[in-house]
Amino acid sequence: MRHTWLASANRWKGSDVSDRWDAIVVGAGPNGLTAAATMARAGRSVLVLEAGPAIGGGTRTDEAFGAGIRRDICSAVHPTGYSSPAFDDLGVAERIDWLVPEVSVAHAYSADDGLALYRDPHRLADELGRDARSWERMVALGADLAADVLELPGMPKHPLALMRFGPTALAPIEAFVRVAFRDERTRTAFAAIAAHAGRPTTALGSTAPGLLLGMLTEAGWPVAAGGSQAIADALAAIVVEGGGSIETSHTVRDFAELPPADQVFFDVSPRALTGILGDRLPSRYRRALERYEYGGGVCKVDFLLREPIPWTGPTADALGATATFHIAADRAQIRETEAAVAHGRLPDRPWILGGEPTRIDRSRAPDGAHLAWAYCHVPAGSDVDVSGRIVAEIDRCAPGFRDVIVDRIVTTAAGFEAHNPNYIGGDINCGAATLRQLLARPVPSLRPHATPLPGVYLCSSATAPGGGVHGMCGYRAARAALNEGVVSR
Ligand SMILES: Cc1cc2nc3c(=O)[nH]c(=O)nc-3n(C[C@H](O)[C@H](O)[C@H](O)COP(=O)(O)OP(=O)(O)OC[C@H]3O[C@@H](n4cnc5c(N)ncnc54)[C@H](O)[C@@H]3O)c2cc1C
Repeated sequence: MRHTWLASANRWKGSDVSDRWDAIVVGAGPNGLTAAATMARAGRSVLVLEAGPAIGGGTRTDEAFGAGIRRDICSAVHPTGYSSPAFDDLGVAERIDWLVPEVSVAHAYSADDGLALYRDPHRLADELGRDARSWERMVALGADLAADVLELPGMPKHPLALMRFGPTALAPIEAFVRVAFRDERTRTAFAAIAAHAGRPTTALGSTAPGLLLGMLTEAGWPVAAGGSQAIADALAAIVVEGGGSIETSHTVRDFAELPPADQVFFDVSPRALTGILGDRLPSRYRRALERYEYGGGVCKVDFLLREPIPWTGPTADALGATATFHIAADRAQIRETEAAVAHGRLPDRPWILGGEPTRIDRSRAPDGAHLAWAYCHVPAGSDVDVSGRIVAEIDRCAPGFRDVIVDRIVTTAAGFEAHNPNYIGGDINCGAATLRQLLARPVPSLRPHATPLPGVYLCSSATAPGGGVHGMCGYRAARAALNEGVVSR
């Protein structure tokens, strides 16, 4: 008899791990847990094995600054989770208290200039002025693209869809913004949203993530009350209510060590999958997985503050009301950051993504304490602490920021890989959003989540539709498995 820790219920559940299972899921990130929840809800017996000390992968929340102060280690803001068809279908959303700010993203160019992307269409139109109609068109295009990308396995629905989206979605950011928007400030704000994916702004396909995330500014970029862990806990609760078990601190290194199961899902990187499956994998598929490309990394700083960030200028209120801020003086700063990273160099003056969760969710810290986080893109595997550059950029737009910092925790790109083996080189999406991997992830296939081994599936964000906390990779893998049924091995 082994004991399984249930973060969701904060209790231990006894189960015999050596039993035969309908489904085993390796990795309890949002995709692994979504696969497990989908299988459990379909009446399958499910065992989840997680290497880390707690469930959640990229949605873990800890108390690193002290008891009662809840810090999101990785993901913090959830536009894709809030609008996820998988979470909707599983009823995850109803188990989470989503806090949806009125301002989805606030962009600071300087201490006295910024732009607020309001959810309210009238306020947004006032803010965007002559670009308001163009932004609406971008949102509509993103919605069509999402319907196509999120609903289907791996490939666009049909070639006509690709032809329709191709010229815009597959364009480089630089080309798209020049055609789509007239105001340089809107162009920079959109470029920052699209550059979340960490691709050079001149790369083919770099606009597509911007259309999806830009479209979601309308629905909202929320945080989960209490921290991102709430998402993992909600998924785990569905698994456990369906009779499943979850075991933490259990790293799977070899397929042979798994208990017998009809279907196995791996929420791991393609690199880890080749190690775990070893010679069982046909060499052609193995070589295809070896060609899979990982992107650059991030260096993140979590701040404990004595006061909220002292934003200034006409957008100060919006910057204080959003869960997500971006800092880039202009498009050149974004272009130079991403170009430097692509060439393996640290950016001198990186553009910044950040947030202040305690502005939205006071439950994260006792009265008087404030939390903020910020990160920038850095070369893969970098172990350099660039917090000085990050602080300088925030301080440029919020003079006096340095003086309100009480404590900081820096996680380098190398540190993220040490924290979670899926973040190879600190790549937070477990694979670059290259043109090839936008169209076919992890390998070109009509069954992108299935491996050549019967009943064995890859379900991490290295599969379609890619990075972010939305569970769609796990959901699609589980639905494929349910449709395909049990095949004897
Ligand atoms: C700093 C940072 C900020 C981010 N910000 C956001 C954000 O704001 N919003 C957003 O939507 N996304 C964000 N992301 C991305 C998001 O966290 C990931 O895309 C998402 O977590 C991927 O989910 P997953 O289930 O595929 O993998 P993961 O969340 O990485 O989970 C994989 C799990 O599998 C486990 N595992 C791996 N190998 C093994 C093994 N051999 N045996 C057992 N267990 C194993 C790992 O320990 C891990 O728990 C961020 C990521 C990082 C790092």
